[in-house]
Amino acid sequence: MIELPPLPYAQDALAPHISERTMAFHYGKHHAGYVANLNKLLADGAGSDGAGETTLEALITGSGQGAVYNNAAQIWNHTFYWRSMSPDGGGDPSGGLAAAIASSFGSVDALRAELTAAATGNFGSGWTWLVRRAVGDAEGAGNGGAGAGGGGAGGGELAVVNTDDADNPLPSGDTPLLTIDVWEHAYYLDYQNARPAYIATFLEHLVNWDFAAANYAG
Ligand code: MN
Repeated sequence: MIELPPLPYAQDALAPHISERTMAFHYGKHHAGYVANLNKLLADGAGSDGAGETTLEALITGSGQGAVYNNAAQIWNHTFYWRSMSPDGGGDPSGGLAAAIASSFGSVDALRAELTAAATGNFGSGWTWLVRRAVGDAEGAGNGGAGAGGGGAGGGELAVVNTDDADNPLPSGDTPLLTIDVWEHAYYLDYQNARPAYIATFLEHLVNWDFAAANYAG
């Protein structure tokens, strides 16, 4: 049985940047729906190896493609996305994360530009991520690598990657630090088709660098 985690803030806490109405649908209908779907699949016997407790991570990395994977990944991605934002978000990263960003991208502004380009250009439904590459993985492990430039992200380097639909970086071995949901349901009620305005708002007012720094420190 997979539980729907509580939001890390009130449903109206990100307003006016993301409205309470968007959160009510996005968390209360979409995220909750993936949990209900997955639990029904598990109750029907899918994804079970009979080895006790089921974790989302095990279902994501071990179930291949299909309904179990899609619902498990969407649950994981949304929980990670809520935590990638904060009512006190925005600003600039600090500490070790800031140094790693400077090393991998040149500057925080350059990272913001790369995230913006990747999220804007992520065709259809998907996710845009800041990740730390798996050590020993000089080319990254696929996932469509939307990073425009960035000077070759080798093992341990940071990179911007896009994924399609429910896909997330866990099967590649990369460590997610931050994500932006670019499915239309994330922004359409507030921004209609203006995905770039949603992305700009995310980076200016919502991005939770403390969460990214904690993931980086891992
Ligand atoms: Mn979503």
